[in-house]
Amino acid sequence: MQHFTQAEIRYIEDCYEDFLKEIRNKFDQERLARIEKAFRFANAAHDGIRRKSGEPYIIHPIAVAKIVAKDIGLGATSIVAAILHDVVEDTEYRLSDIENMFGKKVAHIVDGLTKLSGDIDTSQALTLKKMLMTLSEDVRVILIKIADRLHNMQTLESMPANKKLKIAGETLYLYVPLAYRLGLYNIKTELEELSFKYKQPEEYNQIMYLLHNQEEKRNYLVNEFIKPIKEKLAEEKFECEVTHRLKSSYSIWQKMQKKGVSFNEIYDILAIRIVIKPKPDISEKRQCFDVLSIVTDIYKPKPDRIRDWINLPKVNGYESLHVTVMGPQGKWVEVQIRTERMDEIASRGFASHHRYKDITTFEHELETWIERIRDQLKNPDSDAFEFLDDFKLNLVSADINVFTPKGDMLTMPQGSTVIDFAYEIHSDLGNKCIGAKINNKLVPVSHVLQNGDQIEVLTSKNQTPKLEWLKFTTSAKARAKIKDTFKLEKNQHIENGRILVEEAIQKAGVQLTWNNLKKLIAHYNLNNKEQLYSQVGMGFIELNNIEEVLVKKSESKLVKYWNITFGRRKEENHISEDGDKNPKNKIDRKKTFVLKENQDNVTFSMAKCCNPIPGDEVMGFLSSDDLVIIHKTECEVLAKYMLNQGEKIVSAEWTKFKKQSYLTRLLLEGFDRMGIVSQVTNIISNENNINMRSVQFDTNDGIFRGELFLYIHNTEDLNNLIAQLKKIKGIENVSRIKSLND
Ligand code: MN
Repeated sequence: MQHFTQAEIRYIEDCYEDFLKEIRNKFDQERLARIEKAFRFANAAHDGIRRKSGEPYIIHPIAVAKIVAKDIGLGATSIVAAILHDVVEDTEYRLSDIENMFGKKVAHIVDGLTKLSGDIDTSQALTLKKMLMTLSEDVRVILIKIADRLHNMQTLESMPANKKLKIAGETLYLYVPLAYRLGLYNIKTELEELSFKYKQPEEYNQIMYLLHNQEEKRNYLVNEFIKPIKEKLAEEKFECEVTHRLKSSYSIWQKMQKKGVSFNEIYDILAIRIVIKPKPDISEKRQCFDVLSIVTDIYKPKPDRIRDWINLPKVNGYESLHVTVMGPQGKWVEVQIRTERMDEIASRGFASHHRYKDITTFEHELETWIERIRDQLKNPDSDAFEFLDDFKLNLVSADINVFTPKGDMLTMPQGSTVIDFAYEIHSDLGNKCIGAKINNKLVPVSHVLQNGDQIEVLTSKNQTPKLEWLKFTTSAKARAKIKDTFKLEKNQHIENGRILVEEAIQKAGVQLTWNNLKKLIAHYNLNNKEQLYSQVGMGFIELNNIEEVLVKKSESKLVKYWNITFGRRKEENHISEDGDKNPKNKIDRKKTFVLKENQDNVTFSMAKCCNPIPGDEVMGFLSSDDLVIIHKTECEVLAKYMLNQGEKIVSAEWTKFKKQSYLTRLLLEGFDRMGIVSQVTNIISNENNINMRSVQFDTNDGIFRGELFLYIHNTEDLNNLIAQLKKIKGIENVSRIKSLND
């Protein structure tokens, strides 16, 4: 260990002094003494230790404490914990030392922070899960963690390139939504900007350049725009500050992506903010609306662009009135109107509520939210990735407010449907939901709710949760409940399905043999017995043409001829053995085998080694029973057959296939960014109406890898889909994997 130089020691003291200036007149002597004690202790503990940048380590905890005090507005206990946050992890001191010197509360927070660190090497899903568990215990741990991350982002420059990307990606993925949810609007924006800068330096620089270019013109517009407003406000004796703000470069970029527009087409880059110092005796709300009316007297408002977050604040506590008006030079300008109190809540979030003693509603909302998290975390086998996806969906989406028949208001993620709403109220209501009455109109379970809807859920005692509900559920709660039901019921479905299949086979007058089961499995394009049973058990397969599949093929006795002709061998992948063969559809090897979708008799099956779908270049292999096994031309297994059983190869040709679908596996690779998963699934299920069997995404060092199992009709559909997926920003590669199981 190398002790610091005199100059460095001076620098540390200066930084600390700078921090003290920020808090000195906010705390009493006792609290300031505690903070001083924490600093002296941490300073000694980190003595001689440097950050990557080379500066003394203690500069970091001081900076974090400053953010905690100034930008988040937390109290002395949190400041002390922030100063000590890396002591247990990075020095020889232990938690018990912290507890002895600073008490239980501080030690508890430091412990939480220590447990959350090391996230650079753990998966994001686990980090989020850990974070949310901590959050439900003490929200201060998360707030300090966010401050810690902010300072790490502010000093990211000195990190090696690969870590920069990783940390920036993680910040965008986890910390930004959390900061947003906790109402730390300024921090959220800064984290977003910094992540964007490091993840996509080119795009970032481009937008910064364009913003800079417009500056002069913009300032002129601002002055021209606010002049009459200011005059009128003064006339009406409103004490207020009128400022202007630019949309962040990240939000601009996001909007360009989402709407597919250019920089010049984004009309809300500029926002004017009017912050009122409210007059006494008149309600804040009244005054905000008075100012709104002053503004719209001067400039025409854009219809439907008045956002009232005062009567219905956002869940993170945000209150404000927004209106977009037509300004001079034919430019739309957004005007935000709020009081000083609302402004502070808007920029600092959580802690400001305490200052204004306005904590009841907000804490109630936060409590409900945390309660929901606790609910989800209780499920011990909830898949970490599923959890993350479902949860992120709820962190980032905007909210709508809807009403129960009794008039109680519920806040739900945008895009929520009747099913989400039903589960939000009670799981039983969700499980039995068959539809709803919205504003007295009957709507189905999949109906998307609008802001202000009043919803009466309709139930039936015969209703049970449906797997396809997952296609249109947005809220993490509903998704978790539906998935739970199916996890619980999976075995039940398999058992029910087994009974149904066996009954159907008996009813068809066929023997219950492994071969007959295999035929059914092949006919429905499944992989194994369990799948057949569970699909039947869940009612996805109705078994109504089971006789066609099994019986007709069992009629003939000519099977021996068949076997002699082609030389019977056991083929590993294919249906074989057993006597019920049907050479009625005898295949002429010299002719091209034509694959038709609507055959009353299935005479072919897709090879499991290469999983072709209609439209692929294929060839057939005559299996030892009545089936032609279809392989892709490029298949290695087929190549082997060609070498030693060439006589069994037939050429094959597709007709149009439009109804039946085939399981196909796609691999997606690219650079992770927020929202990419939902964009992918949206293209698949909403835009192309393709059914998904499973979807899994994994992120490592900012690179993500997704694996999709989809039900595809033919190559035309598949190629269209791949082309669309490739257009998604961030996706570098989309490939089809021939094997369905590795
Ligand atoms: Mn730290």
